[in-house]
Amino acid sequence: MKQLWAPWRMTYIGQAFKEVGCIFCAKIQEKDSREALVLAHTRHSVVMLNKYPYNNGHLLLAPRRHEKDLSNLSGEEYGDLADALRSAIDIVRQSYNPSGINLGMNLGKCAGAGIEHHLHWHVVPRWEGDNNFMPVIGETRVMPQHLLESYDRLKPYFQNLCA
Ligand SMILES: [Zn+2]
Repeated sequence: MKQLWAPWRMTYIGQAFKEVGCIFCAKIQEKDSREALVLAHTRHSVVMLNKYPYNNGHLLLAPRRHEKDLSNLSGEEYGDLADALRSAIDIVRQSYNPSGINLGMNLGKCAGAGIEHHLHWHVVPRWEGDNNFMPVIGETRVMPQHLLESYDRLKPYFQNLCA
C-alpha cells in the first residue's frame, strides 16, 4: 500500500497533543454533533468524520468508552464496534462509490497512532489515482466547509444506525 501524502497531518498531531484530554471523549460529549462532525452514536460506539482526512469521507470509529486496548473491550462493546464498522463501510460505498476502501487501526504511537489512548478504526475511501491528486488537495488544505458538505452528505445514511 502506497502512503498517501498528507502534510496537514503534522498540524493534526501537533494539535492533538495540545488539546486537553482525549479528543474522542470530548467529541462524544459534544452537544452539536454537526460541529463535532459526529455522524452517529450507537449503543457503545461513535462514528465521526476525521477533521484532518487522508481523503474525502475519511471516517473514524471508536468505542464510547475511553480504552486503548482492543482486548479490554467487552464482547458487547466489540460487537457493537464491529457492526458499526460494517455499516460504515456499506454507507461509504453507497454514498461515495469508491474504487476501494482502506481500513486501519494504529495501536500504539510507534504504529502511527495520533491518539494512542483511545482506540479507533480509520475508514478511508480510495479512488484510482488519488495518490496523484492528494498532494494538490493537501496544498489547499481541507477546509471546514468541505468537511461539513461531507457531513451533510453522509448524515442521512447514518440515521438508522443511531441508538
Ligand atoms: Zn477517550
